[in-house]
This record gives sequence, C-alpha cells and structure tokens, in this order.
Amino acid sequence: MTDHADIQVADYYDTDTFSRIKAFAENRETPFVVIDTATIDRQYDELVDGFPYAKVYYAVKANPAPQILTMLRDKGANFDIASVYELDKVMALGVSGDRISYGNTIKKARDIRTFYEKGVRLYATDSEADLRNIAKAAPGSKVYVRILTEGTLTADWPLSRKFGCQTDMAMDLLILARDLGLEPYGVSFHVGSQQREIGAWDAALNKVKVIFERLKEEDGIELKMINMGGGFPANYITRTNDLQTYAEEIARFLREDFGDELPEIIIEPGRSLISNAGVLVSEVVLISRKSRTALHRWVFTDVGKFSGLIETLDEAIKFPVWTEKTGSGEPEDAVIAGPTCDSADIMYEHHKYPLPLNLAIGDRLYWFSTGAYTTTYSAVEFNGFPPLKDYYI
Ligand SMILES: *Cc1c(COP(=O)(O)O)cnc(C)c1O
Repeated sequence: MTDHADIQVADYYDTDTFSRIKAFAENRETPFVVIDTATIDRQYDELVDGFPYAKVYYAVKANPAPQILTMLRDKGANFDIASVYELDKVMALGVSGDRISYGNTIKKARDIRTFYEKGVRLYATDSEADLRNIAKAAPGSKVYVRILTEGTLTADWPLSRKFGCQTDMAMDLLILARDLGLEPYGVSFHVGSQQREIGAWDAALNKVKVIFERLKEEDGIELKMINMGGGFPANYITRTNDLQTYAEEIARFLREDFGDELPEIIIEPGRSLISNAGVLVSEVVLISRKSRTALHRWVFTDVGKFSGLIETLDEAIKFPVWTEKTGSGEPEDAVIAGPTCDSADIMYEHHKYPLPLNLAIGDRLYWFSTGAYTTTYSAVEFNGFPPLKDYYI
C-alpha cells in the first residue's frame, strides 16, 4: 500500500497517454472526465490475451458512451445489459441480439418480452418468479442461474447479497427451467467489483463445479456455460495484483475443477477495461480549516459524490488524486469534499489524502482511474450542478 505516499503519474498512465489527456484538458472548464479510447483498446486486447478461452460480454453500465460501445462492437465484444434503455443504446449501433445477454436478475415481464422480440436469447435469473416470467416472455431461451458468492470483505465495491441464490436453489431453478421448456444453460457469479482476493474465483468455481456434477448425475442436465462475471482490477490507491496474475490464477482454478475440456466461459468486465482510461479533472473551489489549530485542511472541489464520485461512498474506492504541485510542496493531510450543500458530499475524511501545503484555490485536481462508474452515476442537477461532462479522445 502506498497510502501515504505522493501519487506518481507513472504508476497510473504512460507518459504519452497522460500528456495527451492533459493537453486536451488545458483551457477547458472543469469538471469533466477525459477518456483515452486507445487505452481501452489496449486493455481489451490484454484481457483477450489473458482469457483466450472466454467470450467477453462488456458490462455496459460501467460506461455506455457510444464511442466505447462502437469500439468494443468492432473488436468483437458481446454485451451484458441490464435494462431496455441500455438495450436500445447498444442495438442502435447495429449490435444483434445474439451478442447480448440480459444479465439483470431483476426485471419486468414486459421488458423480458422486449428483449425477446429484439432477438435476445440469453437470460440471467436467480429466482422462481423471474424464471417463470422468462419461460412465458422468452420461450425456449437459454438461462443461467446466478449464485451467491462470498468475498464481500475483499471486494472494494461488493455486488453480493442482492444478487444470486444459494447452490441448492440454483439447482432447483435449473431443473425448473428445463421443465418450463427453457434451456438450462449454465451458472454465473460475480465475486464483487474490484475484487482484490483472486481466491474468490476459486471459491465460486468450486460451487459451480458441484452444480454441474450434481445436475448431470442426478437429473441428466448437462450445463454448458460458466459466466465468471466481472471483478477484475483497475488501478486505484489500494493496490491489486495485475491482470495477468488474475488470468493465470483463474485459468489454474478452471483447470483444477473442469480439466482440459472447459465449458463455454463468459467474462463480463466493466471497471478493469475502462477505469484506467479516464482522468477526471476538477478545480479547487475552497480551502479552509475548521479552527485556528486544526491539523488538517478541508479541500473543496467542483466535483463530488453527486457529480460522478459516488463510489467514494464509505470511501470504498480510493481514487488517486494528483495535482501539478504534488511533490513540490510539503504534503499535509486533507479532507476532500464536493461543492454541494449536502454533508454527505464528502469524498474522503477518514482516509486523509496528503495534499501539498502550497495547493491553492483555483488549482486543478486530477482524479485518476475514473473512466468507469462516473459519468452515469452523476446526478442530473442536484443544487443546479449539471451532470459530469465527458470527452473521448
Ligand atoms: C456490474 C456488473 C459487471 C461488471 O463488473 P466490474 O467489476 O465492473 O467488471 C459484470 N456483470 C454484472 C452482472 C454486473 O452487474
């Protein structure tokens, strides 16, 4: 952990990429996020290199910008979609239904019908009511059941509890799927976003193996697919292994459980593909102390929880924050907060960021690794502030 060291640009971007982003940002009014599409292009290739046996379904919610969707479409990606609105966005770019998975387990029957009418034949589920809706609205489709996973404590943005069901119920649902005329196709899980413990995939795959074996032996159902979800890392302050290490370890887990004849494998990356491509550029609005003897400053910026930084909730994601004065002035711990009249709009208070003492009002703060889960989380007009602007270079 480099928690109390200065943020070094070189730990997050190559020189060329960062100067390109910085040059673009010059003279533009903050706040905004700049996303370098070449980085996404490269990271997609790295992902495919790491998981050559897997089909990639991009988790559209991470960043649905047409520039990104178009690039991923042309690179042959498939799409994990959660709503009819995302579906419209992706299909408007000419992506056909056979490249889409309806991955949300919480959906209206009429939305399932819309997906079916548009040619989507792959559906996630984790409950009987939803499964029965799928059987009616999307007859004959492939379904995969999402199981609960542990790993909540080691994922910085857990996606547990709300999604997935226990192993026994997963088996019941897959049997019911067959009885309802659907194709019981596979099992999915998501070990939690920004999962730092690679063993979380091992634990999940062990559960999947049990389901595959039991259904085959006891019910004659041969499942064909494992959807390993997302959870692969982006670079924030709290360090992780690199993607290659994830890839090697996960390949080993798969081989241990399923041998050389792997079932169809799906991965659904969001964060790991997009985050590192983005830099959010903001400006210091105010610097203050709460008393004459206070040991730390409050640094207020023109971006906050309501303009793209909601993942700082509980200080879960610790974005690297850099200024041009980083390294030049004596650092002193600061609280960093947003510009709105809501006291929840504090990004970091417990985890203090060392910011240089010569930091001044009007200086820019650069928030690294902010390409994913920022633009779409931004409020429409809380306190009148407009949504976060985004540029793609
Ligand atoms: C959000 C989500 C993802 C993406 O997860 P990341 O950790 O951002 O890669 C993948 N699959 C599903 C079902 C999701 O909800």
